[in-house]
Amino acid sequence: VENEYYKLQSEKESNARSYPRKFPLIIKKAKGTIITDTDGKQYYDCLAGAGTLALGHNHEVVTEAIKDVLEQQLPLHTLDLATPLKIEFMQEIFSILPEELKDSAKIQFCGPTGADGVEAAIKLVKTATKGKSILAFHGGYHGSTQATMAMSGNLSKKQHLQSLLPDVHFLPFPYEYRCPFGVGGEQTSQISAHYIEHLLDDCESGIAAPCGVIVETVQGEGGSVPAAIQWLKELRRITAERGIPLIIDEVQTGIGRTGKMFSFEHADIVPDVIVCSKAIGGSLPMSVVIYKEELDKWNPGAHTGTFRGNQMGMATGLATLKYMKEHDVLENVKDRSNQFFEYLNGLKHKYEVIGDVRGRGLMIGVEIVNPSGRKDQLGHYPQFGELTAHIQERCFANGLIIEVGGRRSAVLRFLPPLTISALETAKVLDIFEKSVKEAVE
Ligand code: PMP
Repeated sequence: VENEYYKLQSEKESNARSYPRKFPLIIKKAKGTIITDTDGKQYYDCLAGAGTLALGHNHEVVTEAIKDVLEQQLPLHTLDLATPLKIEFMQEIFSILPEELKDSAKIQFCGPTGADGVEAAIKLVKTATKGKSILAFHGGYHGSTQATMAMSGNLSKKQHLQSLLPDVHFLPFPYEYRCPFGVGGEQTSQISAHYIEHLLDDCESGIAAPCGVIVETVQGEGGSVPAAIQWLKELRRITAERGIPLIIDEVQTGIGRTGKMFSFEHADIVPDVIVCSKAIGGSLPMSVVIYKEELDKWNPGAHTGTFRGNQMGMATGLATLKYMKEHDVLENVKDRSNQFFEYLNGLKHKYEVIGDVRGRGLMIGVEIVNPSGRKDQLGHYPQFGELTAHIQERCFANGLIIEVGGRRSAVLRFLPPLTISALETAKVLDIFEKSVKEAVE
């Protein structure tokens, strides 16, 4: 890219930068699902701030909320002190909680990132249970701080570091397509649940007094891998019976992404702790932990932090939640999800390189495989990261921004705004097919 801004970024920004390597554009403006670069080229944005932009870019209720804060001279920063806005935002969040939590749950505002929320959740359950170890899942992702990385089951991101947090035990996630037990389908989930239960009851298993289990109901960075509904129910039963707090990381799945406000609602379960970030701030940085009252064993001031009072984020978050309710955005998620799945499943039959299409709501993954590789015990070809990168690059050239994740970076991940229209979805899918075709030719 010849652009001077891009050159400056490449020269001056950390080598750890990620997205700019795949999407070498300089964004000038953005509205809804569309990003426009400094050359005037437009892109459909199916990354949407890694799932942050529930209503897309610059939705008018979000920009109006920002203007309102400024016009009324509301304080921009108050630490964790109260404001009418904060109270209203809290009430709005409580109104979308399951009945069981509506009256009794506690909320804690944390630092601005998802990782801040996850860190707080772990401290919370450690304080409440005095347990030591944390149970997490293979392929899971919880952040980039030391503790959240320790709980993320992706070695490639952390194996070069020395020890992070010693007491994490990884459990098998019910990844039905690449089944860790070699059975696949529904049986994957049954065996996984049985295995977890056995492990927790086996006093010689090496798991010391867990303080909690942390799980994503759909692994996001892990490749949009949904856990079966029955498995989630089983996990809730197993943890409840043993008094182990169940922490659901809703950082990516939360606030409508999967077609329900909270993704655990699909399984009709209620976790002990919910971590929210991304969409809950309505485009701006925010994270909160919501938890059952009995876990509130903090001492006063036990978990502090300067930026727990992002007032602007509360205004945009409140506006987003209200809009979602009033305009039944969840209905759109369901309709668009069906549209995506119908088309992508069609592509699966057309292109041998598409091994699996999966996800929930508007959190969708397409796993790319190598038909000249050796099949695994389930009869699936191996992951094909190189081709996935090539398809991503063709998508970009054709005007579609789409993220890659999963093992061997072989999953193309759709995370569009929840307000994406039927027409935009059709266009996105059109570009996607064109790009797959170009990449395999
Ligand atoms: N948990 C999950 C499930 C996530 O997807 C992410 C971010 N992709 C995080 C935690 C960490 O959030 P952040 O990047 O804001 O720290």
